[in-house]
Amino acid sequence: MAFKKRTHDCGELRLANVGETVALNGWCHRIRDLGGLFFVDLRDRTGVCQLNFEIERFEDLRDLRHEFVLCVTGEVVKRAEKDVNRKVPTGEVELDVKEFDVLSTCDVLPFPLSDESQMKTAPEDLRVKHRYLDLRRPVMYRKLLIRAEAVRLIREYLHERGFVEVETPIFTRSTPEGARDYLVPYRLKPGRFYALPQSPQQYKQLLMVAGVERYFQIARCFRDEAQRADRQPEFTQLDMEMSFVYQEDILAVSEGLTRHVCNSVIEKFDLDLEPVGSFPRLTYEESVRRFGTDKPDLRFDLELFDVTETVRTCEFGVFRSAVEAGGIVRGVKYPGGADLSRKQVGELENFVKEFGAKGLAHLTVVSTDPPECKGIAKFFKREELTVIIGAADAQPNDLLLFVADKEAVVCDALARLRNLIGDRCNLRDPRKLLFCWVLDFPLVFWDEENKRWDPSHHPFVMPKTEDLSLLETDPGKVRADCYDIVCNGSEWASGSIRIHRPDIQARVFSVLGLDEEAQRRRFGHILDAFRYGAPPHGGIAPGIDRLIMYLTGDENIREVIAFPKLGGGYDPMMDTPSEIEPEQWEELGLTLRPAEDD
Ligand code: ASP
Repeated sequence: MAFKKRTHDCGELRLANVGETVALNGWCHRIRDLGGLFFVDLRDRTGVCQLNFEIERFEDLRDLRHEFVLCVTGEVVKRAEKDVNRKVPTGEVELDVKEFDVLSTCDVLPFPLSDESQMKTAPEDLRVKHRYLDLRRPVMYRKLLIRAEAVRLIREYLHERGFVEVETPIFTRSTPEGARDYLVPYRLKPGRFYALPQSPQQYKQLLMVAGVERYFQIARCFRDEAQRADRQPEFTQLDMEMSFVYQEDILAVSEGLTRHVCNSVIEKFDLDLEPVGSFPRLTYEESVRRFGTDKPDLRFDLELFDVTETVRTCEFGVFRSAVEAGGIVRGVKYPGGADLSRKQVGELENFVKEFGAKGLAHLTVVSTDPPECKGIAKFFKREELTVIIGAADAQPNDLLLFVADKEAVVCDALARLRNLIGDRCNLRDPRKLLFCWVLDFPLVFWDEENKRWDPSHHPFVMPKTEDLSLLETDPGKVRADCYDIVCNGSEWASGSIRIHRPDIQARVFSVLGLDEEAQRRRFGHILDAFRYGAPPHGGIAPGIDRLIMYLTGDENIREVIAFPKLGGGYDPMMDTPSEIEPEQWEELGLTLRPAEDD
């Protein structure tokens, strides 16, 4: 079907074009029928331009609806001063329409595209179901542009430094990253399955054995795990690996890359964010001790303080018995929290209880010298109060909140409480992206439920040379050459120096409970490859989706993915996961019956 192709983009017209005859193509973004006057804002990917129709000149004008697709021809004219719209770049001109054609009509929309204020309440499932409409919104299109630019900059930065982009298979076998695998049945041998990669981890290590030395990939990863606002069943990582490097080399490349990409995007899109600076470094031990977590939000200070030794012999039974049972007592300060009502403090207590704490004790500081507090103060001697106030670095009117329990419970509850206090006291500046390094993770963690050691990252992480001798005797004490990048309290990237010697790899597999038969069956290819001259190597994998969330300020990962899945992994647009035909069950040799209709 022939149509008049555009001579200009809608968002491009300015005073300099006045007097020109131009053709535009686009969508009816907004229609204003003022009786004698009829205006349409025509939108394309570059912006909107106001069309002015002379009512008498056109029949059927009133049949136009939102999102009809038009081609129009007309003359660019200057708007009268009183009609200038300063909110849009084309606001000083409009198009006096001479001819137009409707190229496509549009049904009644499931949600209005012309009024962003109404989109705040548009149900998300409706938006995802009609994503092709949702993405027409300029705010959504801009996120696609930001993402595309970030990925372009990543490629450019890495190409300039000799990295080679290599694609690795999607149909593969299990690569453990701590989640369940998505499996694909293999038709030619029923009972066999491919696994979709939780990451390209093994392939990138094999590429190092292959001599590629500097690899990267914008890699899709698939993990079947509990869905949260910042998780999707499939997501994208910048996967990187380098040979003949120390940890420091990988930190330098990834930190340089992050700063370059963020700061270029912030500048190009004029984002309301401060430039990203150099990344502070913490060890895992230090991060957990000071902030209760390995994902600290360093935009604000508020460090946890430990009073275990001070309260060991105090009169407060709750603290004393927690310490006697081998637990700890730590606290966090709520600056100016003395004003909180009893009910509000009760709410904070309920909050920490959700994360396993049994309670939340509190002291309200009235004066620091002499020490005077309210709350549980009566259980403490004056000297004890002085030490507690000192540990908390408290001022009059501060509220000190304490959890007494096993270390893991105390840390988790207080780390979350610290973030909540950060929110309440407006300490988490949305204009800051505070990236930091967390280094020296333990190699393994004890899984009490399954009574086994689990890798803190994955099974290919190199133990620190000085801790290798503890591998069999005290695995929990072994630290690894392993590092994370954390941004504003969320994990953004993880990486490590890898094991490149088959004997060490086999020892780590054994600690993880894999006997020789299981090692051969699941990872024989890696153990074999390492026998053919594997170089020392290491890498990292920052999340692309999360990077875009940081840049756009979104808290929901679905906002930065073109076609996301809803909670539970359902895609309402394609209506998938979907049922398969009876013949397909047969062909695949699957014996389960198709899902019942719900
Ligand atoms: N494969 C790891 C992950 O997906 C990253 C890495 O160690 O490079 O977290």
